[in-house]
Amino acid sequence: MRVSDGTRTRGRRDHNPELYQLSYAHQATVSLAVIWVVSGGVFALTFDDGPDPRGTPAVLEALDAAGVRATFFVLGERVERHRGLFERVRAAGHEVEVHGYEHLRHPHVSRAAVERDIDRALEVLGGAKRWRIPWGHLAGFTQDVADQRGLEIVGWSTDTHDWRGDRAEVMLEGLGLTNGGIVLAHDGISVGAQRSTAAETARLVPMLVEAARAAGLAPGPLRPIWPVPIPISSCSSCSTASTRSQPAWAASGSKQHATTRCRRGW
Ligand SMILES: [Zn+2]
Repeated sequence: MRVSDGTRTRGRRDHNPELYQLSYAHQATVSLAVIWVVSGGVFALTFDDGPDPRGTPAVLEALDAAGVRATFFVLGERVERHRGLFERVRAAGHEVEVHGYEHLRHPHVSRAAVERDIDRALEVLGGAKRWRIPWGHLAGFTQDVADQRGLEIVGWSTDTHDWRGDRAEVMLEGLGLTNGGIVLAHDGISVGAQRSTAAETARLVPMLVEAARAAGLAPGPLRPIWPVPIPISSCSSCSTASTRSQPAWAASGSKQHATTRCRRGW
Protein backbone atom coordinates (compact mmCIF):
# COMPACT_ATOMS: atom_id res chain seq x y z
CA MET A 1 0.00 0.00 0.00
CA ARG A 2 1.43 3.33 -1.03
CA VAL A 3 1.08 6.36 1.12
CA SER A 4 2.28 9.08 -1.15
CA ASP A 5 -0.44 9.40 -3.76
CA GLY A 6 -3.44 7.61 -2.31
CA THR A 7 -4.32 6.05 -5.67
CA ARG A 8 -5.59 2.97 -3.94
CA THR A 9 -8.48 4.89 -2.51
CA ARG A 10 -9.14 7.39 -5.23
CA GLY A 11 -12.14 6.63 -7.38
CA ARG A 12 -13.51 3.84 -5.21
CA ARG A 13 -17.14 4.30 -4.42
CA ASP A 14 -17.25 1.86 -1.56
CA HIS A 15 -14.12 2.69 0.34
CA ASN A 16 -14.14 3.69 3.94
CA PRO A 17 -11.67 6.57 4.33
CA GLU A 18 -11.51 5.99 8.05
CA LEU A 19 -10.26 2.46 7.62
CA TYR A 20 -7.73 3.59 5.08
CA GLN A 21 -6.56 6.24 7.43
CA LEU A 22 -5.98 3.67 10.12
CA SER A 23 -4.30 1.36 7.68
CA TYR A 24 -2.01 4.06 6.41
CA ALA A 25 -1.27 5.23 9.89
CA HIS A 26 0.63 2.05 10.65
CA GLN A 27 3.07 2.69 7.85
CA ALA A 28 3.08 6.40 7.32
CA THR A 29 5.63 8.85 8.51
CA VAL A 30 3.69 11.81 7.16
CA SER A 31 1.00 13.50 9.21
CA LEU A 32 -2.49 12.10 9.55
CA ALA A 33 -3.91 15.35 8.27
CA VAL A 34 -2.19 14.84 4.94
CA ILE A 35 -3.49 11.30 4.76
CA TRP A 36 -7.02 12.48 5.38
CA VAL A 37 -6.85 14.87 2.48
CA VAL A 38 -5.36 12.22 0.22
CA SER A 39 -7.68 9.38 1.15
CA GLY A 40 -11.05 11.13 1.14
CA GLY A 41 -13.25 13.76 2.67
CA VAL A 42 -13.99 14.30 6.33
CA PHE A 43 -17.10 15.21 8.22
CA ALA A 44 -17.07 16.23 11.88
CA LEU A 45 -19.59 15.01 14.43
CA THR A 46 -19.89 17.46 17.32
CA PHE A 47 -22.04 17.35 20.43
CA ASP A 48 -22.69 20.24 22.80
CA ASP A 49 -23.98 20.92 26.31
CA GLY A 50 -22.91 17.71 28.07
CA PRO A 51 -22.05 15.78 30.01
CA ASP A 52 -25.68 15.07 30.81
CA PRO A 53 -27.05 11.79 32.15
CA ARG A 54 -30.24 12.39 30.17
CA GLY A 55 -28.43 12.34 26.82
CA THR A 56 -24.73 11.58 26.90
CA PRO A 57 -24.92 7.81 27.60
CA ALA A 58 -27.24 7.19 24.63
CA VAL A 59 -25.02 9.25 22.32
CA LEU A 60 -21.89 7.46 23.54
CA GLU A 61 -23.47 4.08 22.94
CA ALA A 62 -24.59 5.07 19.45
CA LEU A 63 -21.13 6.34 18.55
CA ASP A 64 -19.54 3.20 19.92
CA ALA A 65 -21.93 0.97 17.99
CA ALA A 66 -21.20 2.93 14.81
CA GLY A 67 -17.46 2.69 15.42
CA VAL A 68 -16.85 6.44 15.25
CA ARG A 69 -15.52 9.10 17.54
CA ALA A 70 -16.69 12.66 17.87
CA THR A 71 -15.88 16.02 19.43
CA PHE A 72 -17.77 17.01 22.58
CA PHE A 73 -17.99 20.67 23.55
CA VAL A 74 -18.73 20.43 27.25
CA LEU A 75 -19.97 22.78 29.95
CA GLY A 76 -17.67 23.05 32.97
CA GLU A 77 -20.56 23.25 35.39
CA ARG A 78 -21.91 19.94 34.09
CA VAL A 79 -18.46 18.35 34.11
CA GLU A 80 -18.24 19.13 37.80
CA ARG A 81 -21.67 17.61 38.45
CA HIS A 82 -21.16 14.54 36.26
CA ARG A 83 -17.47 13.85 36.52
CA GLY A 84 -17.86 10.10 35.99
CA LEU A 85 -19.77 10.64 32.76
CA PHE A 86 -17.17 13.13 31.60
CA GLU A 87 -14.41 10.59 32.21
CA ARG A 88 -16.44 8.05 30.27
CA VAL A 89 -16.50 10.39 27.26
CA ARG A 90 -12.74 10.80 27.46
CA ALA A 91 -12.09 7.11 28.05
CA ALA A 92 -14.04 6.27 24.90
CA GLY A 93 -11.47 8.23 22.92
CA HIS A 94 -13.60 11.23 21.95
CA GLU A 95 -12.18 14.71 21.64
CA VAL A 96 -13.24 16.99 24.47
CA GLU A 97 -13.28 20.74 23.97
CA VAL A 98 -14.84 23.67 25.78
CA HIS A 99 -18.29 25.25 25.40
CA GLY A 100 -18.18 27.37 28.57
CA TYR A 101 -18.70 26.94 32.28
CA GLU A 102 -22.26 28.18 32.14
CA HIS A 103 -24.08 28.78 28.86
CA LEU A 104 -23.58 32.52 28.52
CA ARG A 105 -24.90 34.59 25.67
CA HIS A 106 -21.86 36.73 25.02
CA PRO A 107 -23.58 39.77 23.53
CA HIS A 108 -25.73 40.00 26.68
CA VAL A 109 -22.97 39.94 29.28
CA SER A 110 -19.74 41.76 29.95
CA ARG A 111 -16.32 40.78 28.68
CA ALA A 112 -15.25 40.22 32.28
CA ALA A 113 -18.11 37.78 32.81
CA VAL A 114 -17.16 35.80 29.71
CA GLU A 115 -13.50 35.78 30.78
CA ARG A 116 -14.39 34.47 34.23
CA ASP A 117 -16.65 31.85 32.69
CA ILE A 118 -14.16 30.52 30.13
CA ASP A 119 -11.27 30.54 32.61
CA ARG A 120 -13.32 28.57 35.12
CA ALA A 121 -14.29 26.08 32.41
CA LEU A 122 -10.69 25.68 31.27
CA GLU A 123 -9.64 25.05 34.85
CA VAL A 124 -12.26 22.33 35.24
CA LEU A 125 -11.26 20.68 31.95
CA GLY A 126 -7.54 21.10 32.43
CA GLY A 127 -7.31 23.10 29.22
CA ALA A 128 -8.75 22.99 25.71
CA LYS A 129 -7.79 23.94 22.17
CA ARG A 130 -11.18 24.76 20.68
CA TRP A 131 -14.15 26.76 21.88
CA ARG A 132 -17.71 26.58 20.67
CA ILE A 133 -19.47 29.76 21.63
CA PRO A 134 -22.98 29.20 23.08
CA TRP A 135 -25.57 29.63 20.31
CA GLY A 136 -22.71 30.72 18.07
CA HIS A 137 -23.43 34.23 19.29
CA LEU A 138 -20.19 36.14 19.46
CA ALA A 139 -19.77 39.52 21.08
CA GLY A 140 -17.29 42.04 19.77
CA PHE A 141 -14.75 40.90 22.36
CA THR A 142 -15.18 37.14 21.95
CA GLN A 143 -12.46 36.58 19.35
CA ASP A 144 -9.98 38.55 21.44
CA VAL A 145 -10.82 36.54 24.56
CA ALA A 146 -10.26 33.36 22.55
CA ASP A 147 -6.97 34.59 21.08
CA GLN A 148 -5.63 35.48 24.51
CA ARG A 149 -6.21 31.90 25.63
CA GLY A 150 -5.01 30.23 22.44
CA LEU A 151 -8.49 28.90 21.68
CA GLU A 152 -9.78 28.38 18.17
CA ILE A 153 -13.47 29.27 17.87
CA VAL A 154 -15.47 26.54 16.17
CA GLY A 155 -18.97 27.01 14.83
CA TRP A 156 -20.75 24.58 12.55
CA SER A 157 -21.79 24.21 8.94
CA THR A 158 -24.96 22.19 9.36
CA ASP A 159 -27.39 21.93 12.27
CA THR A 160 -29.53 19.00 13.43
CA HIS A 161 -31.76 21.35 15.45
CA ASP A 162 -32.10 18.29 17.66
CA TRP A 163 -33.26 20.41 20.61
CA ARG A 164 -36.60 20.68 18.80
CA GLY A 165 -37.28 16.98 19.36
CA ASP A 166 -37.67 16.09 15.67
CA ARG A 167 -37.39 12.50 14.58
CA ALA A 168 -33.98 11.35 13.35
CA GLU A 169 -35.23 10.95 9.78
CA VAL A 170 -36.36 14.58 9.73
CA MET A 171 -33.03 15.77 11.11
CA LEU A 172 -31.07 13.75 8.55
CA GLU A 173 -33.13 15.19 5.74
CA GLY A 174 -32.13 18.71 6.74
CA LEU A 175 -28.39 18.14 6.98
CA GLY A 176 -25.83 19.07 4.37
CA LEU A 177 -23.01 16.58 3.81
CA THR A 178 -19.91 18.24 2.44
CA ASN A 179 -16.19 17.69 2.75
CA GLY A 180 -15.09 19.47 5.90
CA GLY A 181 -18.65 19.85 7.12
CA ILE A 182 -19.26 20.20 10.84
CA VAL A 183 -22.58 18.96 12.18
CA LEU A 184 -24.02 20.45 15.35
CA ALA A 185 -25.89 18.12 17.71
CA HIS A 186 -26.42 18.00 21.46
CA ASP A 187 -25.87 15.30 24.03
CA GLY A 188 -27.00 17.75 26.71
CA ILE A 189 -30.58 18.77 27.40
CA SER A 190 -30.92 22.41 28.32
CA VAL A 191 -33.48 25.07 29.07
CA GLY A 192 -35.65 25.70 26.04
CA ALA A 193 -35.21 22.24 24.55
CA GLN A 194 -38.39 20.63 23.31
CA ARG A 195 -37.23 17.16 24.34
CA SER A 196 -36.33 15.38 27.56
CA THR A 197 -33.77 12.91 26.19
CA ALA A 198 -31.29 12.68 23.33
CA ALA A 199 -32.83 9.45 22.04
CA GLU A 200 -33.47 10.79 18.54
CA THR A 201 -29.99 12.31 18.40
CA ALA A 202 -28.58 8.90 19.28
CA ARG A 203 -30.79 7.28 16.63
CA LEU A 204 -29.51 9.81 14.10
CA VAL A 205 -25.88 8.81 14.67
CA PRO A 206 -25.82 5.56 12.66
CA MET A 207 -27.94 7.10 9.90
CA LEU A 208 -25.63 10.07 9.62
CA VAL A 209 -22.52 7.90 9.71
CA GLU A 210 -23.90 5.74 6.92
CA ALA A 211 -24.93 8.73 4.82
CA ALA A 212 -21.55 10.40 5.25
CA ARG A 213 -19.67 7.27 4.29
CA ALA A 214 -21.90 6.77 1.26
CA ALA A 215 -20.92 10.30 0.24
CA GLY A 216 -17.23 9.40 0.55
CA LEU A 217 -16.78 11.27 3.81
CA ALA A 218 -15.18 9.89 6.95
CA PRO A 219 -17.26 10.91 9.97
CA GLY A 220 -15.31 11.60 13.11
CA PRO A 221 -13.98 14.26 15.45
CA LEU A 222 -12.46 17.53 14.33
CA ARG A 223 -8.86 16.95 13.31
CA PRO A 224 -5.96 19.21 14.25
CA ILE A 225 -5.84 20.45 10.68
CA TRP A 226 -9.21 20.88 8.99
CA PRO A 227 -9.49 20.90 5.17
CA VAL A 228 -11.82 23.89 4.93
CA PRO A 229 -12.13 27.16 6.88
CA ILE A 230 -14.00 26.57 10.12
CA PRO A 231 -17.06 28.80 10.64
CA ILE A 232 -16.89 30.69 13.91
CA SER A 233 -20.50 31.78 14.12
CA SER A 234 -23.66 30.44 12.62
CA CYS A 235 -27.16 31.75 12.42
CA SER A 236 -29.39 28.78 11.82
CA SER A 237 -32.64 30.63 11.30
CA CYS A 238 -31.44 32.84 8.52
CA SER A 239 -29.01 30.27 7.12
CA THR A 240 -25.95 32.45 7.22
CA ALA A 241 -22.61 31.18 8.32
CA SER A 242 -19.49 33.15 8.90
CA THR A 243 -15.84 32.24 8.99
CA ARG A 244 -12.92 33.80 10.73
CA SER A 245 -12.34 36.12 7.82
CA GLN A 246 -15.97 36.99 7.19
CA PRO A 247 -18.23 37.05 10.22
CA ALA A 248 -21.62 38.10 8.89
CA TRP A 249 -22.81 40.05 11.87
CA ALA A 250 -19.43 41.71 12.32
CA ALA A 251 -19.40 42.76 8.70
CA SER A 252 -22.85 44.26 9.10
CA GLY A 253 -21.70 46.02 12.23
CA SER A 254 -24.61 44.66 14.21
CA LYS A 255 -24.04 42.28 17.03
CA GLN A 256 -27.75 42.39 17.66
CA HIS A 257 -28.35 40.43 14.49
CA ALA A 258 -28.05 37.05 16.11
CA THR A 259 -30.07 37.86 19.18
CA THR A 260 -32.94 39.65 17.54
CA ARG A 261 -33.45 37.64 14.39
CA CYS A 262 -32.25 34.17 15.24
CA ARG A 263 -34.18 31.88 17.48
CA ARG A 264 -32.76 28.53 18.35
CA GLY A 265 -32.27 26.29 21.33
CA TRP A 266 -29.10 25.19 22.95
ZN1 LIG B 1 -24.85 24.99 23.81
